[in-house]
Amino acid sequence: MNQVDYLRISLVDRCNFRCRYCMPEGVKFDYLLKEELLTNEELLRLILEVFMPLGFSRFRLTGGEPLLRPGVAELVGAIASLPQTQDLSITTNGFLLAPQAQKLYDAGLRRINISLDSLNSDTFDQIIGNHGRSRWQEIWQGIQAAHSVGFDPLKLNVVVIPGVNDHEILDLAALTIDKHWHVRFIEFMPIGNGDLFGDRGWISSQDLRQRIRQRWGLTESQICGAGPADVFQIPGAKGTVGFISQMSECFCDRCNRMRLSADGWLRPCLLNETGQIDLKIALRAGISTKKIQEQVRQLLTIKPEINFKERDPGTTGLYTRTMSQIGG
Ligand code: SAM
Ligand code: SF4
Repeated sequence: MNQVDYLRISLVDRCNFRCRYCMPEGVKFDYLLKEELLTNEELLRLILEVFMPLGFSRFRLTGGEPLLRPGVAELVGAIASLPQTQDLSITTNGFLLAPQAQKLYDAGLRRINISLDSLNSDTFDQIIGNHGRSRWQEIWQGIQAAHSVGFDPLKLNVVVIPGVNDHEILDLAALTIDKHWHVRFIEFMPIGNGDLFGDRGWISSQDLRQRIRQRWGLTESQICGAGPADVFQIPGAKGTVGFISQMSECFCDRCNRMRLSADGWLRPCLLNETGQIDLKIALRAGISTKKIQEQVRQLLTIKPEINFKERDPGTTGLYTRTMSQIGG
């Protein structure tokens, strides 16, 4: 059985983008009120007194868009400085990154994932639901800033959408040749806005791998991540290409993570809420962290039986919460 030692923490459910596969325009979201979010103090208390004693040592900050949360660098600093923290990373859309990259690095952050679905500004804006001045340039500046500051690994997340950005696979993979960057191709999931791309569905990692292999060849990478990606390298490339295949493969048996939403719900699986616990209510009701720890321990015990394929009864097709609400 896998050691579950990795917690993905959503800092906020809001976002400054409206990606068509995540928070599509025209859909109304009931955003959390400020007082519904876990405070920094509550978060740190949970990390230190509940999760770390249970063996959690790796943390990722996500959202919504985590850089929208005021004081994110201070929170990064506080988590990074805990002696039991072995790994701290962030997933961001990169829009607010350029001016904050150095501050985040100085606070102790070393690993970063930036979402970049296209190298073409029009396609990019179409995906993120932007109708004003293109935002692509800001993202690219954010990536460059993260690179200059020294983030390593620097990963670029690409959700592959048939007929929208799949023709760019080779260009995106080519970013790994000269730079020590890691491109991660993610199979599009029918969560949030599953019928968006209709019959075109999703493209399997196997198919993508084949396209890249035909162009350059691919070798299995020696640099293996601890995450769900299958990692490869274009021969001679500095970086890697990885494939996250949650649709075509079940990697639940390798799962090492839990997810904490911005409003304090701890869930054992991205697509399965079975057993989830409201940690914010527990904290605010004055329940001791020892008792909360016991509840989390119970959830850890049943986690191996909870998986993607047998997701919550009643949720067919679309899932009830989007990635932005769960903390993708
Ligand atoms: N806002 C940040 C960002 O976009 O990087 C962090 C949160 S976002 C929910 C985390 C990741 O989930 C992003 O890489 C995004 O592309 C991915 N994601 C969102 N909805 C998805 C879907 N329906 N299928 C696959 N990946 C998805
Ligand atoms: Fe925002 Fe990230 Fe969702 Fe896009 S994928 S809408 S950037 S939370």
